[in-house]
Amino acid sequence: MRRREAFLAGCRPATRRIHAPILDVAAARGHLNPRGLGRARAFSDLGSLGQSSVGFETLADYEAADAAGRAPYGGAEYGVVQSPEADAVCAKFAALHGGAGAIVCASGLAAIATVLDAFAPKLVLIPEGLYFPAWRYMAEANLSETGRAALVTYPAGASGAEVGALLDEAGRLFAPADTMVYLEAPVSGTFEIPDIAGIAAAAARAGIRTVMDNTWGSHVRFRPLDHGIGIAVQATTKYEGGYGDTPSGVAVARAEADIARLRRRLRIGGHGAVSPQTCARLFHRVDGAKARLDRHEATAAALMAWFEGKAFTARILSPTRADSPHHARYQQYFGAGNSLFTVAFDEGLPGERVHAFVDALLLFRVAESWGGHVSLVLPVHPRRDPATLPKGATFRFNAGLEEAGDLIADLEQAARAAPL
Ligand SMILES: *Cc1c(COP(=O)(O)O)cnc(C)c1O
Repeated sequence: MRRREAFLAGCRPATRRIHAPILDVAAARGHLNPRGLGRARAFSDLGSLGQSSVGFETLADYEAADAAGRAPYGGAEYGVVQSPEADAVCAKFAALHGGAGAIVCASGLAAIATVLDAFAPKLVLIPEGLYFPAWRYMAEANLSETGRAALVTYPAGASGAEVGALLDEAGRLFAPADTMVYLEAPVSGTFEIPDIAGIAAAAARAGIRTVMDNTWGSHVRFRPLDHGIGIAVQATTKYEGGYGDTPSGVAVARAEADIARLRRRLRIGGHGAVSPQTCARLFHRVDGAKARLDRHEATAAALMAWFEGKAFTARILSPTRADSPHHARYQQYFGAGNSLFTVAFDEGLPGERVHAFVDALLLFRVAESWGGHVSLVLPVHPRRDPATLPKGATFRFNAGLEEAGDLIADLEQAARAAPL
């Protein structure tokens, strides 16, 4: 605490504004946002203000709304399942992606689960290294009347032809409507990029639905529907909200029929219960997402440059780097980066030394999630074939909105305090 306070005193104003309220992370119960600002602090424990009951003038008005699942004021006839604020968020994301419509859910994972539940595939093609909670849901949930979906893994950097061959095989066992091709690009933590357009084309030829987790790029860097993908999912917990205080996820569909199925499923599963406060934040913050992503990207580049020249750095994983095997596809599809990069430390370094370095960091917080204002660090250990991963200790960094110079000063002081 004291070391952190002393270090922060020497930082630039933008960094101090972000970190001053969270100096004592234990007192804040681990929250990286202050609990209530100014006079609101006294009320902040009341939580988000949503309204469950939606009132109607007459019974006939209510019955019409109940049948349609819509209130005349916007939102649903029952306020828990969808608010007018959620409607506004959906309209905005549908427009941002050029889709027929969108749903908003209470988390990114809930959006993924709603998409899977809505189409109940018997077979899902997934990339190696898929975001773990999404994999766990697919592996454990009974999606269709026949139970769990069969999962077939394709290489995270697959070509369209590779996935096409798997689809040909699948076609002998499953109908196209029972099959789904699921993409996540770049893949969490290791950032491989497949041939997105080639995979979308192979799936389209076979009449198979495609879904893409677009959280890394956000609509700012990539619009999956423009590249032939049927449904785009974004964990808006990350860049769209931008400050770690908008737990939510959206799914945007290209086809009217798909959005109708998603809306029906949303109502059935209750995943549309997103607080109106979260929706209001998201609705406005998304407008600043590009400016924030550009700043995150520039800061991440400065941090990667710091790691670059160091003897303890074995590899830096980021598709933005010219030496990445995924750089050509990155340029083709995304064209610009974000806050994330992964550092594989020299495999000769004892794990404890790397841990001591991470613990000596004063601005980078050890925490899950990413895409927010606070810089973060976390070990990468995806459940996948270890042969596809770097050998040394591997950590993912999220470059926050602090001043890059302060973050580099933090890396410098940690490297002095806990030499690698
Ligand atoms: C964080 C994340 C999600 C899930 O979002 P939550 O809001 O945390 O449920 C989904 N996909 C990816 C790639 C993510 O990083």
